[in-house]
Amino acid sequence: MDKNIKNSDTNTPISFFKDKVRRFVEDRNWKKYHTIKNLIQAIQIEAAELSELFLFKELSVSEVLLNKELLENVSDEIADVFIYLLSLVNELDLDLTNSFFNKMKKNRQKYPTKEFNNGNYYKK
Ligand SMILES: [Mg+2]
Repeated sequence: MDKNIKNSDTNTPISFFKDKVRRFVEDRNWKKYHTIKNLIQAIQIEAAELSELFLFKELSVSEVLLNKELLENVSDEIADVFIYLLSLVNELDLDLTNSFFNKMKKNRQKYPTKEFNNGNYYKK
């Protein structure tokens, strides 16, 4: 893993969110439940709750934006995924900012704009 101090959580707002989640968990003595397996399953469950909001519906972006109740539910589930993701990052002592930049570098190499500038997700 390429470690770059500039691209570190200490230099981005991610550290603020990680600390908020860490404190929330510690104040409730919930760390004992935060096994890696439990946190991964919690992320999947929250992502499924997000997906459930759209089950059997074909909604355009503008329809979602006009539905205030749905939009609030979507916002809540996205936050749930983010919170559990941060808990997993905290448990594994990962630097999410560094992970992000490392993975984006790999993505740029895997999907060079020369080959993927036509709107397709796959090579011709
Ligand atoms: Mg939820």
